[in-house]
Amino acid sequence: MIEVAPYLSVNRIAYFSMEVGIREEMHTYSGGLGLLAGDAARSAADLDLPMVFVTLASREGSNKQEIDADGNQIDAPDPWNPEEWAIPIGALVAVKIEGRQVWIRPWLYELASPRGPKIPVILLDTNVSENDPRDRIITNRLYFGDQKDRIKQEAVLGIGGVRVLRALGFSIDTYHLNEGHAAFLSLALLDQHRINRIPGIPEPFSYDVHAVREKCVFTTHTPVEAGHDRFDYADVRSIVGDLIEFDQLKLLAGADKLNMTRLALNLSRYANGVARRHAETAQKMFPEYKISTVTNGAHVPTWMHPAIAELFRTIAPHWAYQLDELLKADQMPPDALWAAHQKAKGELLAHIRATTGVEMDPEVPLIGFARRMTGYKRPDLLFHDVERLKAIGQRYPFQVVMAGKSHPRDFEGKGMIRGIHAHMRAIDSIPMTFLPNYSIAVANKLVSGVDVWLNNPVPPLEASGTSGMKAAFNGVLNFSVLDGWWLEGWEEGVTGWSIGTDGSDSSATAHANDMYGKLESTVLPLYCENRARWIWMMQQTIAKIGAVFNSTRMMRRYATEAYLRS
Ligand SMILES: *Cc1c(COP(=O)(O)O)cnc(C)c1O
Repeated sequence: MIEVAPYLSVNRIAYFSMEVGIREEMHTYSGGLGLLAGDAARSAADLDLPMVFVTLASREGSNKQEIDADGNQIDAPDPWNPEEWAIPIGALVAVKIEGRQVWIRPWLYELASPRGPKIPVILLDTNVSENDPRDRIITNRLYFGDQKDRIKQEAVLGIGGVRVLRALGFSIDTYHLNEGHAAFLSLALLDQHRINRIPGIPEPFSYDVHAVREKCVFTTHTPVEAGHDRFDYADVRSIVGDLIEFDQLKLLAGADKLNMTRLALNLSRYANGVARRHAETAQKMFPEYKISTVTNGAHVPTWMHPAIAELFRTIAPHWAYQLDELLKADQMPPDALWAAHQKAKGELLAHIRATTGVEMDPEVPLIGFARRMTGYKRPDLLFHDVERLKAIGQRYPFQVVMAGKSHPRDFEGKGMIRGIHAHMRAIDSIPMTFLPNYSIAVANKLVSGVDVWLNNPVPPLEASGTSGMKAAFNGVLNFSVLDGWWLEGWEEGVTGWSIGTDGSDSSATAHANDMYGKLESTVLPLYCENRARWIWMMQQTIAKIGAVFNSTRMMRRYATEAYLRS
């Protein structure tokens, strides 16, 4: 295929992910997992790593969030047009689903580093006229539908993705399974590695399991049990048929249900968690496997506000490709850094005014909170004791902006969004607002325009988190529970502040008390009374977090620890 010809001259690492956050206009992502994959691709391009990314076309996006007058999340499709951004490539490739041939149209998006190198991203699309109407919708709406719909999407990604790469002429050295969603790719590889059983030798597998393991590496992303896909074998059989022998599949994926994480672990030569604490938690969940750590990172040039990036260029002209240079952030003139920050804040406040009508004051500290609205992230913890919150606001005025979506079936999360809106309506002494439809563009404004980035999940359930890193690249100070990446990035009073201590009582009451106490005695007084020290902390956080928690360091580590065979 001529469109991909330039990418076929070297063997590549194929990164498979249900979602990849490529750009605002392409709705091929839902949240953190997709943005991480997108930042991985951006850094892979900066580093000119020989990679190809494979994901779903998700023509109807994931979920567009509107909020009604009562604070209810209204779910809607979020369509985009692959025709506008990607090139249709090659011949169609088929996967058998429920006994029907399902044709997959691959699209090519070329993700280019400003330095020049490009990474191919292949988007898989079943919305082609050759397909039965039931199959045309498989890849339309990311994570939508029931378990059977999910199996179909994952079969298109894993099995379809392997076949598409092969049909296009890619030679793949290593497959990177980004989360268990991608684990069906190992079934396609087993299918390609059938061996003849030797009569009389009690070998359980009629596949070269070792050869498949040698080709795969796996990253697990959630310490939440419910986060791991578990499918009924009856459903898997009715959908993917007899692609591989089920008695053997059960040896690899669990006796009762098909556990995608277990399948991925059994068929990967290397597995990792996404922060040190997460790897420890995953190691306890899966003691029979070795779980390594590669702490996540975010793509600094994507998430740093242009005003700060521009200021940094006066200190280190090539910092964007030499991120160690961020260690020089203490050379940024304090006044210039503050001015750049206030510019970003002004843009956020203008966006808030335009979308919600709420007026905020650029001189008053602004606390930001944006994440998936779901139980363990406790997005309503700030409102645990409303009287106390109001009393703090009397002493030290502050403002709050929040954003985040719930999964359409997460009714607890949707209830939290409703609750947050009710609190915001009831509290009139503190300017507060909720920005609908959290997306790449909204995140860009939030992580650069607030003063404090709040995070209060129930530890150890936050695998890593990445938005706090994006905030830090902009000199926004993290105020967070000690979980995920923050255990590694936190230096009290230097890069930000903790809520609670590691291993202490993590009840909502204990964490809320600590949050209120520190807000009132440390965070807000510092902003109001010691601006020089605040700006010094901004420099520290850009330097120490920017130089380490960037996706270029992350991809270098994947390249040397996971992709290279020792
Ligand atoms: C960075 C990002 C996320 C993930 O942030 P977490 O800290 O992991 O919650 C989710 N959505 C968007 C739009 C982002 O930019």
